[in-house]
Amino acid sequence: MPGTLLMAPNETTNSNPNRSYCRFTSGRSSLPVDGVATLGVSGVEIDLGPGHPAQLWNYDRLKSLEPVRGNAIDVLLSSPEAPGASLFVQGAKFAANLAGHAPHLTARAARRRSWKWGLLLAAIVALAVAASFAAGWSPLRSFAAALPDSWRQRLGDSARESMTEGHKECVDAHGVAALSNLSARLSKAAPDGVSFNVRVYDWPLMNAFAVPGGQIVLTKGLLDKAESPDEVAGVLAHEMGHGIEMHPETGIIRSVGLAAAVEIMLGGGGLANAGLMLAQLGYSRGAEHEADLDALHLLKGAGIAPKGLGNFFVRVSKIEGENSADAKSGALTWLRTHPPAAERAKLVRQQSDYPATPALDEQSWQELKSICKTTIEPQKPGSGD
Ligand SMILES: [Zn+2]
Repeated sequence: MPGTLLMAPNETTNSNPNRSYCRFTSGRSSLPVDGVATLGVSGVEIDLGPGHPAQLWNYDRLKSLEPVRGNAIDVLLSSPEAPGASLFVQGAKFAANLAGHAPHLTARAARRRSWKWGLLLAAIVALAVAASFAAGWSPLRSFAAALPDSWRQRLGDSARESMTEGHKECVDAHGVAALSNLSARLSKAAPDGVSFNVRVYDWPLMNAFAVPGGQIVLTKGLLDKAESPDEVAGVLAHEMGHGIEMHPETGIIRSVGLAAAVEIMLGGGGLANAGLMLAQLGYSRGAEHEADLDALHLLKGAGIAPKGLGNFFVRVSKIEGENSADAKSGALTWLRTHPPAAERAKLVRQQSDYPATPALDEQSWQELKSICKTTIEPQKPGSGD
């Protein structure tokens, strides 16, 4: 009588490859119960001996902890028919026959499902693009916004690595703390789900830029030129604005093409010089204005005066005008990618007053300025090509 036959581990019957030793663990009671599992017509029949009701786990609804591979010697199953419970079944033949009854548990099916996820993602992206197109938004931006965050991070890593190549990252602990405090303060008014990762590189060129995934790079050259923490806050808020608007993502996709960008995001390639290309292309005037408006919003939310934002650009453009040799310091290139300083200063002047405190206290400011006291070699990008 099948209802009473119990088996010991490893005692798989040679006569019937559809029956095997099993161990049932219910979600509630901690003690596992040994029994026999049989591959029936419609599902796995579980016989745990006297005192336990017979169970039938339908093939269609079965789940396995791991995909059932061709060489599996056992399986670990669960089913919505017994929430929280698990069933361990020993036996290679049982596993192989189970795969015949429930093909969705196989490794091949799992691979197909991951393809389906890819297709689903593509469909979501296509929908987002179509919807935004209908609404008159930028399709590229909607595409970027629909991407999983990990993809944007990979694109950002690749861009940052390529653009900072040859320069060490500044990691003095006090400076890093001051910078992350400032970044957190400015992030308070950022939209939900947007976060930033700001790094400083030991690079004399004056520069600041955002790369995908909310990553922002500031250079030592910029910190040296800044005369107050409010100026750094202004520049940082402006770059955060680019990040909020996904300008780096759309810029890279536009400059290297969608296919190459997707390849990088899937971990299949580096950005080579495309990152540098992006930096030199700069953004449209409209994009710069958007970043400025976001920056003003972030500064206000952080209780930091917006004057720094205007001052810095005005001062740097003056230095540049007086001394064309400064073009070599990168100021010229950087300013060229930004709208006229006067325009920005006017925008800042139009802001109504609000209570503000310095972006950093004097000590933190000095600590930020000396963040390059300690540096580390940049991590080598994953791909050598
Ligand atoms: Zn900008």
